[in-house]
Amino acid sequence: MQKLIKIAVDGHSSCGKSTLARDLSKYFNFLYIDTGAMYRAVTLFSIRIGVFKDNLENNDLLIQNLSKINIEFKQTSNNKTEIFLNGENVENEIRNLEVSSKVSKIATLSELRALMVGLQRKMSENKSVVMDGRDIGTVVFPDADIKIFLTASLEIRAKRRFDELKEKTKDLDYNAILKNISERDFIDQNREISPLKKAEDAILIDNSNLNPKQQLDLAVKIIKKKINES
Ligand code: C5P
Repeated sequence: MQKLIKIAVDGHSSCGKSTLARDLSKYFNFLYIDTGAMYRAVTLFSIRIGVFKDNLENNDLLIQNLSKINIEFKQTSNNKTEIFLNGENVENEIRNLEVSSKVSKIATLSELRALMVGLQRKMSENKSVVMDGRDIGTVVFPDADIKIFLTASLEIRAKRRFDELKEKTKDLDYNAILKNISERDFIDQNREISPLKKAEDAILIDNSNLNPKQQLDLAVKIIKKKINES
């Protein structure tokens, strides 16, 4: 039987983790799991049940309702893997600025993180997987075969995010995006539970000056070398 491989891709907000992880999963024919999408789906659920009503953040309400959340990844007709919240495809809605501005706060909750980490491990059982997020190499799979920590300059990340959203969003504000990314980095790096940090044994890739094809080529080279050495 072939050895199962776990590839962890962590890093800062909007630095292309999902693009790299998806490309790697296609290249190696492994399962791809976008854990950011999971936290975003829970944030959308929170907004809908009124956790943020009257500008409060009623985390207890979310915690009481955690058992009502069902998250699945399904293959859609356009041959993509997309996220479903309680049976509804929410892949697009979870990328809006409202969800983006609330997700990092929601992601600090220990009860929620425990639930997500359990689900992430379960989804990966008996599979080779590429998983991207913030705590994959440190918490979800501390024994991952390969750990990549991806980053790029803040301005480049904001510009990429702006370009990605501008077709779908009216009156998009570059400065609002830059502010959102830097706030999320701050919360993610400074939270008490599972803060974003590079695992000691992770390989750092700064993709500020790389296009998606170049970052894929570099990561594939690193992974193949690592797999052949083990
Ligand atoms: O990856 P993405 O930018 O979609 O993630 C959205 C947010 O979800 C992050 O800013 C972070 O607060 C949270 N997150 C997390 N742990 C993960 C993945 C995402 O806390 N493994």
